[in-house]
Amino acid sequence: MTPLYDVILVGCGPVGATVANLLGGYGRSTLVVEKEIAIHPQPRAIHFDDETMRIFQAIGLQREIAAATRPILGMHFVDRQGRLLLEVRKNAGDHPLYGFPPANVFYQPELETILHSGLARYPHVDLRLGLAAESFAQDEGGVVVTLRGENGKSSTVRGRYLLGCDGASSLIRRQMGIGLTDLGLHQPWLVIDVRQPSSTDDLYFVRQICDPARPATFVPSVGDRRRWEFMLLPGESPTEMVRPERVRALLAAHVADAVEIERAAVYTFHALLADRWRDNRVFLLGDAAHQMPPFLGQGMCAGIRDAHNLAWKLDRVLRGIAPTALLDTYQSERRPHVAQIIHMARLAGGIIQTRRRGSAILRDGLLRAAMAIPPVRRWLRQLETAVPGLQSGYFAPRNKAAGKLLPQPTVESADGRIDLLDTFLGDDFALIHIGGAPQSDLGMPMLRLIGPRDPWPDAPNAIRDHNGQLSAWMAAHRAEILIIRPDRYVFGGFGDWGLVTGD
Ligand SMILES: Cc1cc2nc3c(=O)[nH]c(=O)nc-3n(C[C@H](O)[C@H](O)[C@H](O)COP(=O)(O)OP(=O)(O)OC[C@H]3O[C@@H](n4cnc5c(N)ncnc54)[C@H](O)[C@@H]3O)c2cc1C
Repeated sequence: MTPLYDVILVGCGPVGATVANLLGGYGRSTLVVEKEIAIHPQPRAIHFDDETMRIFQAIGLQREIAAATRPILGMHFVDRQGRLLLEVRKNAGDHPLYGFPPANVFYQPELETILHSGLARYPHVDLRLGLAAESFAQDEGGVVVTLRGENGKSSTVRGRYLLGCDGASSLIRRQMGIGLTDLGLHQPWLVIDVRQPSSTDDLYFVRQICDPARPATFVPSVGDRRRWEFMLLPGESPTEMVRPERVRALLAAHVADAVEIERAAVYTFHALLADRWRDNRVFLLGDAAHQMPPFLGQGMCAGIRDAHNLAWKLDRVLRGIAPTALLDTYQSERRPHVAQIIHMARLAGGIIQTRRRGSAILRDGLLRAAMAIPPVRRWLRQLETAVPGLQSGYFAPRNKAAGKLLPQPTVESADGRIDLLDTFLGDDFALIHIGGAPQSDLGMPMLRLIGPRDPWPDAPNAIRDHNGQLSAWMAAHRAEILIIRPDRYVFGGFGDWGLVTGD
């Protein structure tokens, strides 16, 4: 008899591996099939943000991942002579809003290795490498997936839900007959990864080289790894561009130090959004659901947000404590959010990819003028990627805080433990309140937040907000009570207990 898994996952790239770790943590029996035996040796993603690190915290792998990661400070847009046009500074400071530096560089094969090894903690998560999904069929009770191994042998498995985390050319998406909305960008870029041991480069800023003759990007990655990206010009052939002499000539214009070229490949940057992300028991996540140009380094981050958004909903539906309608909110929350980020990435791409000399002169002039006005300069400098909140979905209606990602300050508990807030929240719904609370059991942890200088109340659930960040955020959202979802988005912020307890 074929075993019945709670969830079958196709594809174990960064998104599949993250959702498998989340489902493992929830105790869900999960089969992960990955057609490759080895982890993809070529990095694509190179940057992730603070929310992504917070999700790695949720799967208990943040320490290992942080050790393989380096924070950076932001992005410099420079002209062809290297003169600064615009500085976008991620304002990490000593108290980052979500608990982690807002911008981090990493080496993708290393990240994926950590994510894969995290799965070994869960006996109920079965990772099978070298096994490709070929087709699936779903009925009322579940999904049957046909698999083929490296030896050509075919088999079937059955699960309650199927997640297509199988990347840009997703078989699952194609088999569902789901189209991609083209948001209008198909630009080939040459991506070159080098080792540069004697680098004297600024290691804290990505450099967007706004040269109309050849737009380019430089990313100082971890250790001695550096990435260069060059836009292909009309008529240039990918095969010609990856030839070693061509690659060396392009690098020579920018790099004086000796470099070891690890690889050069041409990628076409797209902006695509799957029309539907769910067909009954089957879901699309990550690149299977969306693709975006990497100008803000957000493609993988978006996929990892998909994973966090869906995993807790599936868990609750599988536990029988939420209706299947909760699963509809996956697409209604995530799709518009990704569309907004694609829009922002295209805007950044528009600044960088300007090719007409006249437009480039105008752009440079406007950016210089903006940087010359101190308040505008300060605003631009502190401009973060400003990832928006979620708009419509499973949230309290007409609520200022709902849909926003909860800040994550360092807090101290009454017994003297000091740690990031999430470690006190658990992995289910939680409530944070200021001041006293009714005695009723709301079926979730309730934490009483006190300010940096408040005396300790006689309450074992009190936590001290060390720098007042969360208290200030709650005040700005006119909330004395916050209900937090398992993915750390605020379900609702309330001024009094009436709406929360129904008294
Ligand atoms: C040049 C470049 C730079 C980028 N930079 C960034 C960045 O800095 N930051 C960022 O956040 N994002 C970035 N991205 C985007 C990021 O790389 C992707 O969004 C991310 O890798 C997608 O992860 P995924 O798990 O959805 O898909 P993938 O990484 O494509 O993984 C899909 C997996 O599914 C497997 N698979 C496919 N079909 C089957 C099947 N039938 N059966 C079993 N297994 C299957 C594949 O073998 C693969 O392992 C960049 C992309 C590019 C191209």
